[in-house]
Amino acid sequence: MQKILVTGGLGYIGSHTVVGLIEAGFDVVILDNLSNADKTTLDRIAQITHHTPIFFEGDIRDTELLSKICLKHPDIKAVIHFAGLKAVGESVAHPLKYYDNNVVGSIRLIEAMQKHHIKNIIFSSSATVYAPQKEAALREDDSKTPSNPYGQTKWMIENILKDQYGSDPTWRISVLRYFNPVGAHGSGLIGENPKGIPNNLFPYIAQTASGIRQKLNVFGGDYPTADGTAMRDYIHIDDLVKGHIAALKYSSDHKGYHAFNLGTGKGTSVLEAIKVFEKTNEVKIPYEVTARREGDIATCFANADLAYKVLGWKATKNLEDMCRDHWRWQQHLNQCRSH
Ligand code: NAD
Ligand code: UDP
Repeated sequence: MQKILVTGGLGYIGSHTVVGLIEAGFDVVILDNLSNADKTTLDRIAQITHHTPIFFEGDIRDTELLSKICLKHPDIKAVIHFAGLKAVGESVAHPLKYYDNNVVGSIRLIEAMQKHHIKNIIFSSSATVYAPQKEAALREDDSKTPSNPYGQTKWMIENILKDQYGSDPTWRISVLRYFNPVGAHGSGLIGENPKGIPNNLFPYIAQTASGIRQKLNVFGGDYPTADGTAMRDYIHIDDLVKGHIAALKYSSDHKGYHAFNLGTGKGTSVLEAIKVFEKTNEVKIPYEVTARREGDIATCFANADLAYKVLGWKATKNLEDMCRDHWRWQQHLNQCRSH
């Protein structure tokens, strides 16, 4: 059984990936500082998989702790590195916090990996590294111009990893650039639980459908798209998890540095997302079209051909699946709130 260290393994994408890894027969060690996660997620993972993964509460910048984990678990074969801060607006207000947590944290982690001969990493990057593009799907080699400190941290870490591979070609590095992950595990027991007012569309839609928010503001109705609202490439969390497992399997036979887009290749407008959410879940989402959100772009979707060609991975779930599973999770949260 291969042992994998998952940093940020109690967060949204991390927790789903931990479930996927356990179900695929991997042994998992989690490191998470709980800055954006709750320890009860560990119990939820155990409830779903009937297995409690090893958990270390702590920070990826803590060199001593990293050494302790590596010495205690010398059979760790690879690291899936999710730990990071991810709020774009906060990164503009507190850039140093982001560079420290994400970039310095990744350097500390890569140093520990090098020291303990764990030269296999899968890194969570983002579509935000790309320069905005008019209509075409984004390809891995398209130009990169991150437009905020959060995106900068992702692009910097990608480059650090690339240079690390340049200095030691025995490394196996997979950079996965996620588009817009949404949805939740089919059990309804784990999912994304944003603190405060959600920034992202799907959590906002789900809270509006629940009556927690009065109405959804649709940011911009004058984009050059079919219905005037902005388009994104929403991808079901289950598909994203499968992308990580495909990358892990690929890296066990291949050294090298690779970057892959993980998206569906299909753009969905804000109005389309609202309509499908309403129809699939038989709910009403009051909305109003308002001004554009600063910094937003009209369209952003993946060309995911490379991941299919190299990893044999492609997304299989559709927008209805995403809306249904997101709603099931929101209903679970609503129940927890009412108790
Ligand atoms: P999340 O906030 O739910 O999970 C991140 C986890 O990392 C949290 O559990 C948090 O407590 C932990 N963490 C943060 N800093 C840490 C540190 N210094 N040491 C230890 N643990 C730390 O976020 P997510 O949505 O699951 O995202 C996971 C990764 O994917 C992040 O790196 C994020 O930037 C990236 N990503 C996310 C999206 C998205 O839309 N969710 C899109 C593209 C990329
Ligand atoms: N959006 C919106 N209202 C909201 C939140 C988001 O209209 O309350 C729009 C946003 O302008 C963008 C799309 O939904 O066009 C996806 O936004 P999200 O923040 O989820 O992802 P990102 O913009 O980071 O790709």
